[in-house]
Amino acid sequence: MEQFDSFRHKGMRKRLVNELASKGINDVNVLNAIGNIPRHLFLESSFVSFAYQDKAFPIAAGQTISQPYTVAYQSQLLEIKSDDKVLEVGTGSGYQAAVLIEMGVKLFSIERQKELYQRSTKLLSNLGYKGRFYLGDGYKGLPTYAPFDKIIITAGAPFVPEDLLIQLKIGGIMVIPLGDKEQVMTRIKRISQNDFEQEQLGACSFVPMLKGVVNN
Ligand code: SAH
Repeated sequence: MEQFDSFRHKGMRKRLVNELASKGINDVNVLNAIGNIPRHLFLESSFVSFAYQDKAFPIAAGQTISQPYTVAYQSQLLEIKSDDKVLEVGTGSGYQAAVLIEMGVKLFSIERQKELYQRSTKLLSNLGYKGRFYLGDGYKGLPTYAPFDKIIITAGAPFVPEDLLIQLKIGGIMVIPLGDKEQVMTRIKRISQNDFEQEQLGACSFVPMLKGVVNN
């Protein structure tokens, strides 16, 4: 198992960044973040050698680390500006969180699986990524810290959670994969107190967004 970053990893990352650019990712800050983050440290040891392929892999608790293209695409859709206050639902491996923190946002992230919450907060703090991480139900968001400039949901949501919509700033953007078995990547902009604009951006596939917290 590779515990550290090496020239070999950096080389593989550079190729991944080029591949993402060729697939249409053009937000330089997204590409730079992916170029800087040792994704191999976010995977289970048996998958480490595949870390720089553009694929999703299993992590603990039956969940997955999203494929790099999906992470890059969702990050790009958020139109991140540094210092944006961002809420992520589904910390998972912590990789998407690292990308957003690397892009300069103030990150708040919620995970419902205690095992993943514990692993990812430990890993991110060991790597020096500073954010605020919560064990909780993302359907409720974090009303205490609302409103957010951006909200990213990294699990398949059967509907748009009302509690999250009202935690979005006016002018803010939410990116959410909407649907049951398969999802449609959806971007919602809050244009006034009561008006939201919705764009549908193509098919995608995520593990489901589920209610409640799993405490083991
Ligand atoms: N962003 C993650 C993707 C992990 S997969 C990464 O980069 O690795 C989606 C994650 O969402 C899973 O860890 C799952 O446990 C979590 N999840 C599902 N429903 C949730 C909810 N209601 N609240 C918080 N997290 C949730």
